[in-house]
Formats: sequence, C-alpha cells, structure tokens
Amino acid sequence: MTAAKASVALADSRISATLALDEPIARVAGVSAARAKLFGKLGVTTVRDLVMHFPRRYMDLTAVATAASAPIGSTCTIFGRVHEIKLKRPRYNLPIVEIALVDATGMIVVSAFRQPWLKEKIKAGDALMVAGRIEFNYGFKRMTNPHIELAESKSAQPRIIPVHSATGKLTPAVIRMVEEVALDAVAGLLDPLPLALRAKRDLCARGPALRTMHFPESMAELPCARKRLVYEELLFLQLFMMQESQLRAQGACPRAHVVDGAKLRLLEGALPFTLTSEQVAAKDAVLASLAAPKIANHMVLGDVGTGKTVIAAFGLAAVADTGSQGVLLAPTEVLARQHGSTLGKLFDQAGVSHALLTGSTSKQDRADILARFADGTLDVLIGTHALLEDDVRAHDLTFVVIDEQQRFGVNQRAKMLAKGAAPDALYLTATPIPRTLALTLFGDLTLSYIKERPHAGAGRRTTVLPHGQRGRAYDAAKRALEEGHQAFVVCPLIGVSTEERDEAASKRDGHGESGEAYHPVVAIEDDDDFALGDVAAAERQAAFLQQKVFVDTEVGLLHGGLTADEKADVMRRFAAGEIGVLVATTVIEVGVDVPSATVMIVEDADRFGLSQLHQLRGRVGRGEADAEVYFVSASQKEPALKRLAVLERSDDGFEIAEYDLSLRREGDILGNRQSGTSALKLVNIVRDRALIEAAHEDAEAILAADPALELPDHAALAREVRMIYKGEHAKIGG
Ligand code: ADP
Ligand code: MG
Repeated sequence: MTAAKASVALADSRISATLALDEPIARVAGVSAARAKLFGKLGVTTVRDLVMHFPRRYMDLTAVATAASAPIGSTCTIFGRVHEIKLKRPRYNLPIVEIALVDATGMIVVSAFRQPWLKEKIKAGDALMVAGRIEFNYGFKRMTNPHIELAESKSAQPRIIPVHSATGKLTPAVIRMVEEVALDAVAGLLDPLPLALRAKRDLCARGPALRTMHFPESMAELPCARKRLVYEELLFLQLFMMQESQLRAQGACPRAHVVDGAKLRLLEGALPFTLTSEQVAAKDAVLASLAAPKIANHMVLGDVGTGKTVIAAFGLAAVADTGSQGVLLAPTEVLARQHGSTLGKLFDQAGVSHALLTGSTSKQDRADILARFADGTLDVLIGTHALLEDDVRAHDLTFVVIDEQQRFGVNQRAKMLAKGAAPDALYLTATPIPRTLALTLFGDLTLSYIKERPHAGAGRRTTVLPHGQRGRAYDAAKRALEEGHQAFVVCPLIGVSTEERDEAASKRDGHGESGEAYHPVVAIEDDDDFALGDVAAAERQAAFLQQKVFVDTEVGLLHGGLTADEKADVMRRFAAGEIGVLVATTVIEVGVDVPSATVMIVEDADRFGLSQLHQLRGRVGRGEADAEVYFVSASQKEPALKRLAVLERSDDGFEIAEYDLSLRREGDILGNRQSGTSALKLVNIVRDRALIEAAHEDAEAILAADPALELPDHAALAREVRMIYKGEHAKIGG
C-alpha cells in the first residue's frame, strides 16, 4: 500500500470510529435486545452514552503480595494454589465456598458467599489469583468475597477493575465486558478538540482518555484523563449555550427602558431605609441593563436577608415608567403574598399598579387580573407558578423577575420569558454559584453580588446540640418569649417526634448497638417534595411542645397540608405575636420575614444540607435584637456533629455552600432537574473551577472567530455539540 492510500484508509477508519459513537447500543456485540433495555434504564442508549458511562469507583488490585507479607486491612492480589476447597451451608440458603489457598510463604482462607458454582469450577491443586481485602479472623488471614480468577486465564493479572453503576442482571462484570467491546469500536476516533486547544490546555486525546477512564493501568493515569473529559463537557455545553443565546437574540426587538422616571423616584422616596452600597451597585446594574436596547440577563446573588427584593422593585418601577409591563415570579404562595404586600405598599406610593396572582386567587379576581394584564392597565403582576398558565397573557411584557431562581426549572423560566417579545430578565438567588457556571447555565449574564446584610447591628449565634441537650434550645426559646420575641421550631420532613426518638434512642443504647441509621440528606426543591406524610409527626411534635415545654404560649403549626388561607392566617398571627412558637415542617414556608422572631430551633438538623440550614437560619436575626439558632442533631456521632459545626464557625453562605458542595455530587448542584446539564457527568464545580474558567474563555474565543462553527478545523467540534445536545434546543433558556 502506498503512503497516500494508507493515510486515506486511516482517515476512513477514524471517521467510522467516530460515527460508531452514535450507533444504538444494540449494535455492540454482546448487547442483546434485553440488555439494551436494561442499559436504557441507566440512560444509556447509544455507544456514546456507553463510553461516557464512567465507573463509579475502581478496585485497585495492582498491589501483589504473598500470604505472609500481605498487610492486614490492605487490599491486594495474591497468587496461590488451592490446597482444599469446601462447600458449606450454615443455613439452607447460604452456601459458602471456602478455599484454603497456599503460596510459598503460607496460607490464607478465602470465603465466597452465595457462589456455590465455584465448587464446580475450582479444584484442589488449581492455581488462582485472588484479590480483595485482607482480614484476620480465627487465627487466619482471610479474604471474604474477593475477586477470584484461575491463574491460567488470560485476564488473571494484577490490575485495576472499574465498577460501573449497574442494574439487576446488568452486572458490573457484564458492563465491563460491553465497555471493552465499545471502546474497541470507537478506538481511533477523531478528536473534536482542535490540536491547538489541546496543546494550550495540556489535554490528552479523547480516545485514550476514554479508555483510561474505564480501564486505567494505574490510578495515577486517571487525573489526566478526567481533566480532558471534564474540559470537553464544559466546552461543549458552553458552546451550545452561547450558540443558543445568539439564536434567541436574532430578530428580537428589545426595549430600552426609561430608568429615571417619576415613579422610580417616588419609589426611592418611599423606601423606609437607605440602601447599602452593594444594593445601590446592584440596583444601578439592573437599571443599566434595562436601559440598554438589548436583551439583558442580570443575576443578583446574595445570601438570605441581604435585601434582594428591593432591587427588583426598582426595575419594576422603571418598567412602569416606560409604560410596559413586568412580572415577579416567586416559588411559593407565602413568598408571593409577602412580596405582594411589602412591594405593594411601595408601589402604591409610587403610582405603580400591581396585582397578586396565585393558585388560590378566586375565580372572579383571577378573571379580572388577567383582563387587566392583557389590556395593559396592570403594570406589575406578582405571583407563583400560576403566572405560567397559558391564559396569563401580557399586553407588553418587557421585564421578568424570578425570585429564588434556583427553584425553577429551565422550562419554567423559558415559559415565563416567552410571555414577552424580548423581555429583560432579573434573577434573584441565594445559591452561590461561581460566575462561570452561572454564565454556562444562562448564556450571557451580568452579575451582582451582595455580601453584607443591611442589619449589621443584630448578631446571630449558632449552636449545634446533640439531641440529648436540646433542652438548652427550648430554654433559649422560653427566654426569648419572656422578652416578647418569638421562636421557630423546624421539624424535618420525614420523621418521628422527639419523644419517639428518645424512646428509640434508649432502646438502641440499651442494646449497645453501634450502627447509626443512615439518614440521607434531604434535598428540597419544590413544594411537591413535602409529602403529607410528615404532617402527623409535626402535629405530634407541636402537641408535645405545647403540653410539655411551652405551656404559657400558643404553639402554632405550619405544614404543607394546610390551605393557602390557613397558612396565611397562621403566618399573620405569628407575625402579630399571637403565636409565640411556630412549628413548621417545611423550609420553604418559613421563607418569610418576621423580624421579631429571634430563636430558631431545627430538629434533626443533620437531615438537611448545610446550605439549607444556612438559608433557614437567615429567617431570624432580621430585626434589631440578637438572634439564637440551635441545630439539634438526631445523631450522636462525630461526623454529623462535625459537619454541622461548620455552621457554628461560618456565617458566609458562599463558604458554607462550597463546603456543602464539596460533599455532594455535581448533579445536585446544577439544578438537577434541568435539562442540558445532564451532559455534565464529571464536572465538580468546586474542584474544577479553573477548568470552568478555561473552557468558558475558549468557547468565547472559538465563537468570536467562527460564530457558526463552520471552519474545517471546527467541523468535528460542531458535530459533537450537535450530537450531544440533540433535542435540547429551546429547552435551555435564560
Ligand atoms: P432576601 O435577600 O433574602 O430576599 P429581603 O429582600 O427579603 O432579603 O430583605 C430582608 C429584610 O431586610 C427585609 O425585611 C427588608 O425590608 C430589609 N432590608 C432590605 N434592605 C434594607 C436596608 N438597606 N436597610 C434595612 N433593611 C433592609
Ligand atoms: Mg428573597
């Protein structure tokens, strides 16, 4: 073959390897229709999905040892000869194969549970490789359920075994086998990253990176492979987002708002406080984005209680001055009502017409509000998800404010924005996300950070208590009540009352059992997460507190089972001081402003994420008086208390979130239920911050030079972005 022919053949094979990525998984040898179905359950339908289905963990069996030298507690691989093999059945359904394995230095005992067939496959005298953890029991070194292979088999080499997430009959072993085949099929695939970029960012090639992720020869190879793949995930997403926002901006006719009008000035005069300098900066940034004749997305990031709402008010007043319309979308009824009343007062003084629309607005009021919104007489509409309904039509919507934006999915955001021709958007959030990630998720975006709280004067002290000492928290609440203040008691979502827990704890301690029950951290995203199942526990807890602890004051109860009116009534009575202690089941319903509440007690605090707890405690310490927060841990164990102790040390929401995020998986952070981000499988936003920055910068540069990715050098890149985000168009929105 001539050199030219050889190179054509090579190019052909590279292209077919690349195309193989998008074959359905059933094309892979070893994947039957039944297996393909099981893979579907894992979200794996194409070869691309398969090779991107990375191992959950690795078993490093590269350390070879002898029976004598193998350190107890370590994981290692031992080669030996079977001295004896026995099948025991201590119980009918518990077959155990026990092998005495000897090498030149001594013997270890290998036990394999529920694998009776090993007795048929292995006989005395066979040479074996076993790999696992060395234990010491009953006078022998042992391995329980190790990896076992006949030493003569080709694969019996000390190696690293990847463990992929599996399902039912689709075991990790089957997945390993199929991954091998798939990786062979795509070996030699084209690298979509231009060579110059790879050199600049020091990234290895795609094919080898994929193979290494699945079958590393040493653990030391992994970081480099991972870096390459993290980078490409980020680059592809950013390219996609940026192209999408280019498309959206095409043909739109964004408004240049009046930002120095009479209503805005009236609103400013009506404020009961002076803005902090950060609020002023954020307000100016919002107004500047509204004034510009282009679609502007602005995000205000600030901890709970930093005063973000008032910034939205300025934007909405500017919209009224312009003669167009704005909406303020809030995630819960309680919040929407609160905005309706606090902003409503300001708007009344500024001459901005406004209305509140929620799920519990009466039919008649609703019809009236919809009519006024549709004919343009209403300047500002505040509301919940009710705003998203199809019959909510604006006359001229030019500004959309989304409060607690992390609580809305991309689709909901897109739906809200679609009610205007080319509205500007303002997102308020207490979720600290790095700048570049915000850019990734929203396309073009300007940001304001608010770090300081307006009431610097009031202090807030946080104490973590083991369950047994929760009396100290109740005492603090009693003291507060005597001073005319109020207290929150937040109960976990799923749970038993304090009394039941005491009982359970005494039983457990009585038996001297050491195992601590595993409590998953509850992630709370929307009202649906609050099943009614917790109502009974909260009711019992409220009754317990009323009868045994706070006998002199009224204990109120707020939970997801109440109607909106009932909730509003409880909140009103709490705010008015008629209710001294409010037991709440839900974090969200506590998302309200009662400055005279100075004590917050969170029961079973270890069931919440740190950021959620931090958000929760933001509900006290808003007034003039100092506040006390008690996080009562259900667990006596060190790690739970230690994790909570971060909240004693730090009051910086960003720092806390970062710590929290470092403990969690990426999917939880990226707003989980959002499409598009599902393509980020490896990225960790805390650890990979530098790569996020790099990929963002590179995506911008690439599109600046080649907006439609038409250059030959970008062909593979364009195809990759298209294939990965196939079907995602118009779903992602910002
Ligand atoms: P968040 O950022 O959590 O949404 P809010 O907008 O609800 O915070 O504001 C929290 C409280 O602080 C409200 O009672 C609000 O009226 C008050 N507030 C906001 N800005 C100031 C300020 N500059 N000075 C004094 N109080 C303020
Ligand atoms: Mg708020």
